[in-house]
Amino acid sequence: MSGKRDAAERIHDFLEVDTGLSENNAVLEATRCMECVRPKCTEGCPVNINIPGFIAAVVKKDYAEAAKILKADNMLPAICGRVCPQETQCQGRCVLGKKERPVRIGALERFVADWERKQGIVTPAVGKPTGKRVAVVGSGPAGLTAAAELARYGHSVTLFESLHAPGGVLTYGIPSFRLPKDIVRDEIDQVLKLGVDLKLNHIVGRSVSVDELLAYDAVFLGMGAGLPSFMNIEGEGLNGVYSANEFLTRVNLMHADSFPDYDTPVIKGKKVVVVGGGNVAMDASRVARRMGAEVKLVYRRRMEDLPARQDEIKNAAEEGVEFICCANPTKILGEVTVSGIECVKMDMGKPDESNRPIPTPMTGPDSTFTLEADVVIEAIGQSPNPLLLSLMPDLERGRHGTVFVNSSGMTSILHVFAGGDIATGAATVIEAMGTAKKAAAAMNEYLTKISE
Ligand SMILES: Cc1cc2nc3c(=O)[nH]c(=O)nc-3n(C[C@H](O)[C@H](O)[C@H](O)COP(=O)(O)OP(=O)(O)OC[C@H]3O[C@@H](n4cnc5c(N)ncnc54)[C@H](O)[C@@H]3O)c2cc1C
Repeated sequence: MSGKRDAAERIHDFLEVDTGLSENNAVLEATRCMECVRPKCTEGCPVNINIPGFIAAVVKKDYAEAAKILKADNMLPAICGRVCPQETQCQGRCVLGKKERPVRIGALERFVADWERKQGIVTPAVGKPTGKRVAVVGSGPAGLTAAAELARYGHSVTLFESLHAPGGVLTYGIPSFRLPKDIVRDEIDQVLKLGVDLKLNHIVGRSVSVDELLAYDAVFLGMGAGLPSFMNIEGEGLNGVYSANEFLTRVNLMHADSFPDYDTPVIKGKKVVVVGGGNVAMDASRVARRMGAEVKLVYRRRMEDLPARQDEIKNAAEEGVEFICCANPTKILGEVTVSGIECVKMDMGKPDESNRPIPTPMTGPDSTFTLEADVVIEAIGQSPNPLLLSLMPDLERGRHGTVFVNSSGMTSILHVFAGGDIATGAATVIEAMGTAKKAAAAMNEYLTKISE
C-alpha cells in the first residue's frame, strides 16, 4: 500500500509525507473495485468523476485512458488525489466500506495523475470559440475549475488573481509536505493551456474596477474565504501573533521554509502555541514543527471532538505536536513580543446540534494556567474577504458574509455567478470545484441563450 515517511525524518524537511502507491499496489487496489451498477462513490464526488470507469482502466493498466476519464470531470486530479477528504466523500460511499476497507479511490486518482505527469500531460480539447468574454475572479480551485470548464465550452476566459502566484489556498495555504508546489504548478499550467488568460497582481475592486468586471459577458466570483477570524483577546497586537493564514502564506509564498537561503520574517521561535482544532491548525502546527519549534496545540473541546481529519491529527501527533484539550486562551502575554499565553480550562456541557459538548470556562483557583510561547498562531476559522463584495451592493449576501447563490451558482445579478468558499463559506477543495463546475454549466447556458 502507499507508504508514509518516518516522522523522525520528515519533521526536518518539507518533502511529501505520503509516498503514494507503487504500480503493483495500484493495480491490486483497483481490482478490489466491485464495479457497482449504480456507483455510490461517484454520487459522493462533488464533481461526479466516473470512478468505476477510471479504476477499470487502471485494472487494464491503461493509465492514459484512466487519466482521460479523470480529466473529463476534474482538471486537478493530482491535487485532489492528495488533499480531498475522501473518507467523507467518494470512499465514504464505497460499498466495500460496509464490511471491510473501502477502495482507496484517492490514492488511485493520485497514482494515475502522477503517472500522466511523468509521461507528459495531454491537454483536453476546447470547444469552437463562441466570441463571448468571461471574467473569473480568484485562481483557487473554484476559479481554476470555472476557468477550465468555460474555456472548454469555447468562451474566452480572463482569470484575475490578486496575488503574484495563482492557486489560492493550494499555493499559499496547504503546506508542500502535503501538496508539493510543482504539482500545483503543473495542474494550473494545464488550465492555462486551455487558453485561459491569467492576470496576476490584479485585485478586482482595486486595480480592476467593478464596472470593468461587469462589462464582461459573464462573471464568476471565486474569491474564497481568506479573511481570518481572531479571538479578540488582550495581547493579540503583540509581535509574534499570527493568523494561521498569514503564517502559512509567509512560509509558502515567501519561502520561510527555505531558510537559511531566504530570511523571511517569521519568528523562528522555539515555543509555538497553535489555537484551534481543524485542518488548518494541524497544518500550522506541522509547519512550525518543521521550522524547529516545540509546538503545543490548544483546543477548547476534547481530543475526540477535534474537527480535523483523523489522518492529519495522527500525523501531527507522530511529529511531536502536543495536544492540550479542554482549554481556551484568555490572554496573550508579553510587552512588545509574545512571552506566553494564559488559558482557562473548559468544562464539557450538554451536546450541541453537532453532537459535540458545549464548552464553558471553569471557575475557581485551579481553572487557569499559563504556557510559555514566543509565537501564537490562531487557526479558529475564516470568512470571505469583504473588499469586492462591499463594492457590489446589488449582490445579495448569504450567511456569514458569503455571496448568495441559487443551486446553479447564480447570484442576484443576472450575469454574475459564484462558487467555492465565497459562496459556501470555508469548505473543501473538491466542494469548491463542484460548485464552480455547476456554475460554469449555468454560465454556458446563459451565454448560449444571449447569443441566440
Ligand atoms: C491551510 C488550509 C488547509 C486546507 N487543507 C485542505 C485539504 O487538505 N483538503 C481540502 O479539501 N480542503 C482544504 N482546505 C480548504 C480549501 O483549500 C478551500 O475550501 C478551497 O481552497 C476553496 O477554494 P476557492 O477557490 O473558493 O478559494 P481560495 O482557494 O481561497 O482561492 C481564492 C483566490 O481568490 C483570490 N482573490 C480574493 N479576492 C480577490 C480579488 N478581489 N481579486 C482577485 N483575486 C482575488 C485569492 O488571492 C485566492 O487566490 C484548506 C484550507 C486552508 C486554509
